[in-house]
Amino acid sequence: MKKWYRLFVFLLLGVNFLIDIICVYSFHFTFDQEVPAILLGTNSNEAVEFIHTFIPYSLVFIIIVSFLFLGFVYIKLRQLPLCIKDQYCIVLLLFVFLSLLSFAAISNKNFGNVSITKFYTILNATSPPDLKDYAVRPQLLTLSEKKPKNIVMIIGESFSKTHSSLYGYHKNTNPCLKVLQNNGLLYVFNNIQTPALNTVPVFQSLMSTYKPEFKDSINWFECITMQGVLKAAGYYTSWISNQSQKGFHDNVIAKFAYLCDTSVFAGNRFAAMGKKDLDEIIIDSVSKYKNMGDEQHYRFYFIHLMGSHPDFKKRYPLSFDIFKADDYPDKKKEQRTILASYDNSILYNDFVVSKILNLFSEDEAIIFYFSDHALDVFDSRDDYVGHARYNDSKSLIAGSNIPFMVYMTPSFQSDFPNIKNILQSKLDCYYRIDDMIYTIMDVIGVKFEDGNRDNKQSLLNLY
Ligand SMILES: [Zn+2]
Repeated sequence: MKKWYRLFVFLLLGVNFLIDIICVYSFHFTFDQEVPAILLGTNSNEAVEFIHTFIPYSLVFIIIVSFLFLGFVYIKLRQLPLCIKDQYCIVLLLFVFLSLLSFAAISNKNFGNVSITKFYTILNATSPPDLKDYAVRPQLLTLSEKKPKNIVMIIGESFSKTHSSLYGYHKNTNPCLKVLQNNGLLYVFNNIQTPALNTVPVFQSLMSTYKPEFKDSINWFECITMQGVLKAAGYYTSWISNQSQKGFHDNVIAKFAYLCDTSVFAGNRFAAMGKKDLDEIIIDSVSKYKNMGDEQHYRFYFIHLMGSHPDFKKRYPLSFDIFKADDYPDKKKEQRTILASYDNSILYNDFVVSKILNLFSEDEAIIFYFSDHALDVFDSRDDYVGHARYNDSKSLIAGSNIPFMVYMTPSFQSDFPNIKNILQSKLDCYYRIDDMIYTIMDVIGVKFEDGNRDNKQSLLNLY
C-alpha cells in the first residue's frame, strides 16, 4: 500500500475519532444522523460560537494528547517488523479500539455505539429543497366569515419555563409579561410541549401538517404549510427574523420564510451573533413592515427571535446584566455565571417580547408566543448546558416542556369573545406545537375540505 494512502486513512480515522470524542465529551450523546442535520441547519458564525461554548480547554488538551499519542504509535508501527503484511490493518484496528475505549473512559452511558460511517452520513445529508416548488394551495371550507385582522406568531428560542417567573421561578425574569398577564391581556399555558429538541425538526412540523412521527413515510417538504393555508384564507404573510438567513446548506427555516409575501432578516444575514444583532433590532423591523400589503388584507406575522440561544451572554446588552454569579449561592461554583447569563437573557427577552406585543396593542390582534424548544440548563447533569438530549429522560423533559402564552388585545377580546373564553379555559390542557396549524385554522375559521385532516388537534377545538 502506498505511503500517502496509509497516511490518508490514518487521518480519516483520526478525524472520526475526534468527532466521537467531542460528541461524547461535550454532548453526552453518540454521533448519529441528527448531528449533520443540526450542523447543516447552523451557520458558520453559530458554529464558531458553538465551539466557544461547548469545547472547553480540557477537551482541547485531551484531543492534542490523543493525537500526539496516536502519532507516536503510528511512527513506532512503521518501524516495527510486522508479522501482518499490511500496517494499515493494525492502524485501523487500533483506532476502532481507541474509539471504543474513549467511550468507555469518558461516558458511562454511551458505550458501545461507535459510528465509523459518519463521513458517509455527513456526505449524504441533503440540503433542504425550495419549498415554493412544492407549495400546494389547500382546498379549504370557510366556517366563519369573521376572522381576526392581525395574527402574530412570535417564536422564541431556547427559553426554558423553569427559568420563567411566569411559571413560578424564584428569580423575577418576566416582569413585563407579568404586568400584561395581570391586566388580563396575556394568558399563560402550563402544559405545552414541543415535538423535537432542535430548531430544524421543530420548524418542519410546526410550520406544516408534517409530524416527526411520520419519519420518512412522507416528505416533510410536501406537506401543507401554514403559509399555504393563510394565503388561501386571504392573509398577507410576513416573516421577520433575527436569526440567520444563511446556513451551511441554506437553512430550513429560511426556506419557510421565503414562502411568505414578505421576508425580512433584521440582523446580519449570516448570523445574529454579535452584540449589534440583539433581538431589540427586530422591534424597528416590525414597526417598519407592519401593515405591509394591500389595505384589504388580513395580516399574519411570523416573528423569529434569537432569544436565549447559546452563547447566553451574547444575547443581552450591558443594561440587562442584572443577575450575577453571587445571586446563586446554593448552586455549584462552575454553574453560577452560566445561570446568571441565562436568566439575564430571559429578562431581556421579556423586555423585547413585551415591546413587540405593545406594537399591536391598539389593533385587533391575537399573538401566540412560545419557544421552539427549551434547553437543558443543568437539568440532567451538573456539567451539561445545551440542547436537550433524547437519551436522557431528565434532559428530554427539560427540553420539551416549553413556555407558551397568548396575548389578546382589548379590541380582539371584544370582537372574538368566544375564542378568548375558550383559550382562557384551556390553560392547563396538554398540547403539542406541531399541531399549531390546526389552532390557527380554528382562529381564522377554516377547515380542510377533505375530512381526513380534521381540526382534531386544535387548542381551540372550535369546529
Ligand atoms: Zn432552537
